[in-house]
Amino acid sequence: MSFDSLGLSAELLRAVSDQGYDEPTPVQKQAIPVILEGRDILAGAQTGTGKTAGFTLPLLQRLTESSAAPGGAGRKPVRALVLTPTRELAAQVGESVETYGKYLSLNSTVIFGGVNINPQMNRLRRGVDIVVATPGRLLDHVGQGSLDLSSVEILVLDEADRMLDMGFIHDIRKVLKLLPNRRQNLLFSATFSAEIKTLADKLLDSPTLIEVAHRNTASELVAQVVHPVDRVRKRELLSSLINNEGWQQILIFTRTKHGANRLAQQLVQDGISAAAIHGNKSQAARTRALAEFKQNKVRALVATDIAARGLDIDQLPHVVNFELPNVPEDYVHRIGRTGRAGNEGEAISLVCVDESSFLRDIERLIRKEIPKVVVEGFEPDPSIKPEPVFKPRGGAGHRNQGPGGRAGGNRNQGPGGRDGRGGPNRNSSGARGAGRPGQRSSRGR
Ligand code: AMP
Repeated sequence: MSFDSLGLSAELLRAVSDQGYDEPTPVQKQAIPVILEGRDILAGAQTGTGKTAGFTLPLLQRLTESSAAPGGAGRKPVRALVLTPTRELAAQVGESVETYGKYLSLNSTVIFGGVNINPQMNRLRRGVDIVVATPGRLLDHVGQGSLDLSSVEILVLDEADRMLDMGFIHDIRKVLKLLPNRRQNLLFSATFSAEIKTLADKLLDSPTLIEVAHRNTASELVAQVVHPVDRVRKRELLSSLINNEGWQQILIFTRTKHGANRLAQQLVQDGISAAAIHGNKSQAARTRALAEFKQNKVRALVATDIAARGLDIDQLPHVVNFELPNVPEDYVHRIGRTGRAGNEGEAISLVCVDESSFLRDIERLIRKEIPKVVVEGFEPDPSIKPEPVFKPRGGAGHRNQGPGGRAGGNRNQGPGGRDGRGGPNRNSSGARGAGRPGQRSSRGR
C-alpha cells in the first residue's frame, strides 16, 4: 500500500516523499483515513510506530480543507492543539508539523516550560493555526491572555498515558474546559490503564479504536538479562561490563536526577565518557548531551525516565537499568529503546536485593521471567538485607515535573524524592522469581 491511496493531498504527499517514506506504517494506514473523515480515535501506539505522522498528516489536511472560524480581536484563531508530556516530545512533534506542512500555508508553534515565555507570547500574538504544547506552560499562556483556545477544531493528546503518569490530569481537565464542545479528538497512548479508559470515555465521541502491534515488545526482539549484584557494587560492575564487553552507545537509566548526575560523574572517573540528561538540566544542556551521544562523542548517556521519554533515540545496542524503575511500565518504555526494527538489542538490569519487588512487578507485566545471570566476581553477598527504596512523593498526583513545568515553578523531575543509591565472564546461575502469567501489576497509577 502506498501513501497515495490514503486520501492525502498532493502537498502532503510531496512532503512525505521528501522524507523518503515509501509506505505508510500500520498506525498510519489505520489512523489517516479515519482522521480525515473527522472521527475521534483512540490509538494504542508507542514511539517508533510512526504515530506522529499518523496524526500530523491528516490534521494538516483537515485544516486546509476548511477555513477558520473568525477569531476574536482580529487574531488568527488556534485551530489545532497537540498536548505532549515532555518538552522533547513537543519539540519533535513541532518539527514534524513543520516538515509535513512545508508546502502548506499553515503556521505552527511549540510551547513548553523552562524557557523564556516572552518569545512564545510574541509568536502567539502574531497568530498560529497549530499549537504543540506541554500542559503547564500552555495554561500559563491562557492565564496571561496570550492564548485563546476557544476555536480549537482538533485536539491531540500524544502519549496520554505518560501525561497521566506525570500528574498532568488536572491540567488536562483545565485545558478541556477551555476548548469548544464541538471538536475532533485524537488520543494516543502506549498503554490502556483504567485511567486512560476513564479519560477516553469522557473525551472521545464514538471513537475508532486503533491498535497496532508494537514494533518491538519486551518479550520479542530484546534480549533481557538481570545481573544480581550488591547495591554498592553496581557502578563497579557497570564500568567493568562497559569496558570488558566493549559496549558503545549505552543508554543507562537511573531513578533520580541526582543518581543520574552522580553516575555520569563516576563513569567519567572510570574513563568512560558520559553525560547525564534529566529535568533539572537546561534545554540547551539536554540537547547538547543528546547530540554528543548520537555523534558517538559521549559513550554513555545516563537518563531518568521522564527525560528519556520522547527523545528520538532508539535502535541502541544496549540499554542498562542501573536501577529498576518502580513503575513496571517504565521498564517496557526503557527497553523499547533497543532492538527496534528487527535489530538485535540487549537490555541489562543491575538488580540489588532492595529491588526484588520491582523485578517481580516487571516480570508480571511482561509475562515473562527475565534470566538472572550472576557476573563472576560480583556475586551478591547473601547476608545483605534489603533496604526500603523511598516512594516517589505524591505519585501520579504530584505536579513537580521538569518537562512542561510552569515558568517560575520548581522544575524538579516528577517522580522525585526517591533516594538514588546508587573482564567479567558471565556465569548463569539459573532463573528465579517467576512472574505469574496473566497477572498485571496491581500498582495503582
Ligand atoms: P514516531 O513513532 O512518530 O516517533 O516515528 C518514528 C520514526 O519513524 C520517525 O523518525 C519518523 O520519521 C519515521 N517514520 C514515520 N513514518 C514513516 C514511514 N511511513 N516510513 C518510514 N519511516 C517513517
